[in-house]
Amino acid sequence: MAEKIIQVKNLVKNYGNFEAVKGISFDVYEGEIFGLLGPNGAGKSTTLEIIETLREKTSGEVIVDGLNLDNNPAEIKRIIGVQLQSSGYYPGLNLIELIELFSGLYNRKVKPMDLLDMVNLKDKAKAKFKELSGGQKQRFSVATTLINQPRLIFLDEPTTGLDPQARRSLWELIRDIRTKGTTVIITTHYMDEAEVLCDRIAIIDSGKIIALNTPDQLIDDLVASGFERPKEVKKANLEDVFINLTGHSLREE
Ligand code: ADP
Ligand code: MG
Repeated sequence: MAEKIIQVKNLVKNYGNFEAVKGISFDVYEGEIFGLLGPNGAGKSTTLEIIETLREKTSGEVIVDGLNLDNNPAEIKRIIGVQLQSSGYYPGLNLIELIELFSGLYNRKVKPMDLLDMVNLKDKAKAKFKELSGGQKQRFSVATTLINQPRLIFLDEPTTGLDPQARRSLWELIRDIRTKGTTVIITTHYMDEAEVLCDRIAIIDSGKIIALNTPDQLIDDLVASGFERPKEVKKANLEDVFINLTGHSLREE
């Protein structure tokens, strides 16, 4: 069994009188793609940002790669990759210059072109962030999480608003990152995405984890409880039709 790279125990976050996260516990194993699913306002971003050291927790324990969040936030920061707010993407700088700027902030030497190659943006090296398509912006944002060669990265809704081709391109990138040994924690509203991408998922609702398992096991459990789809399932769905008609290749590139 892989090592636990994240351990969260009884995590609570209150905003004033409002309990946003109500004592959740979960572990993430090294090398997995772990999904946090849940309706808007469930507490996903709050949970991620606490683990990322960007928000104070109210109570509970968080351990990242053996480091306790209470005692070692700086060490945790060094081994995690976080998507930077796009407001940090200075409008005057091109992608190479932005990566050089960020790697300076992290005090890490990176080869910008290697990183852009990995996210399939080499031919946009001299473009400004605002000139990229939605999918390219997300791929660049994922690239920025890799600058400090982290052990684990956090992706908060990286595919929201993307077209089906751009979404698939990002799935491939996320799988590549995991294949290279990096653990991925991702939030998404797309169940098909969680099903194909995540090794395990936690479903969080109103600040509580209501299910945690592999997508397969969650589906099997529901079926075992007697659930049946109201309509006979066809061998394809509308997304299959769309991808079949318009192809897998990326648009607006
Ligand atoms: P999710 O990412 O699952 O959509 P969030 O973690 O962003 O949920 O938010 C969880 C709840 O906490 C929501 O009800 C949200 O309105 C509230 N919340 C988030 N941030 C703050 C804040 N800074 N101050 C007060 N309430 C907040
Ligand atoms: Mg959120």
